[in-house]
Amino acid sequence: MSRKPKQLSSSDILAELQSLLEDFSEVLDRPDIRERVQALVPSVDKLRALGVSLMPEHVNAGARDRILAYFRKYPRTVIDGDELMVVSGIGEWARRVRELRVEFGWRINSGTTYKEMAADLAKDGETEALASLATDLDFDPLEMRPDQYVLTSDAHDRDAAYRWRVLNSIRKSKESVRDKILSYLKHNVGKPVLGEELRYLSPSSEWARRVRELRTEYGWAVASRMTGRPDLDVGVYVLEHERQARLNDRKIPDPVRVNVLRRDNYRCCVCDWSYSDRQPHDPRQFLELHHLEHHAKGGANVEKNLITLCNVHHDEVHRDKAATERVEEMASKF
Ligand SMILES: [Zn+2]
Ligand SMILES: [Zn+2]
Repeated sequence: MSRKPKQLSSSDILAELQSLLEDFSEVLDRPDIRERVQALVPSVDKLRALGVSLMPEHVNAGARDRILAYFRKYPRTVIDGDELMVVSGIGEWARRVRELRVEFGWRINSGTTYKEMAADLAKDGETEALASLATDLDFDPLEMRPDQYVLTSDAHDRDAAYRWRVLNSIRKSKESVRDKILSYLKHNVGKPVLGEELRYLSPSSEWARRVRELRTEYGWAVASRMTGRPDLDVGVYVLEHERQARLNDRKIPDPVRVNVLRRDNYRCCVCDWSYSDRQPHDPRQFLELHHLEHHAKGGANVEKNLITLCNVHHDEVHRDKAATERVEEMASKF
């Protein structure tokens, strides 16, 4: 393999660019358009080289590496396509972004994904969730463009190729969008799934709504940062477990869910378990909301009728009358 020549410093390249532009100024008055265009080409090349030179030399193996290094330097940040053009030095940077996601498993969402998430919240009047999305992104999600991107976490999935194979086969199935999303989530129980992946299963922007319905109508534990898992990155979803909520405990609106979890400090009211305590061999694996007065018996989906329990204590409350009474006693302070 031949060694690459040492990269010129940005200031050297800038000096060359300045002198090229100086030369160009003399051509500017010439009548022939083509002559002017051709005279500008060296400056354009030099400008591109200047952009590439901004990245440290050790990540300078190729356009895709530079794009990845840039994302990893600024994770959870809205990055403009124009920035990627500068650091990559190529016009086809968008294809490299897709490769990073699809072939290498980097969790990169596009602006369209966030915009569609936000539009769904806006349509439902969920202003608080919308505001927290904007805070997390430090950007108005409703203003996001398709050529903007966010690396949601500085982690990548080594099984990327397999994930996209599964995704593609589900996409081709004849199921409804909701069922497609559910079956993809079921392939990834407990693992973060990108909004971008779920969006891929839907021919329109309806995916965000369908994800919400799975949680709030059908009782699947599809968690996200906005719905009571502040430990998750913005723009990823996790199906926490494969168990659909009991009929009584479905249909809790997201804002109510978030308020109850927050009030209970994201902990089981019986044993204090939280997601940060999760251990592989502990039967406690997730939190659920329990209706003090059962929903089926007329108990409302309001904060004072709901309490946070880990899955173990939730089971216990439904099984054991004494446990129910203890929980009711505890909840009387709300
Ligand atoms: Zn518990
Ligand atoms: Zn319950």
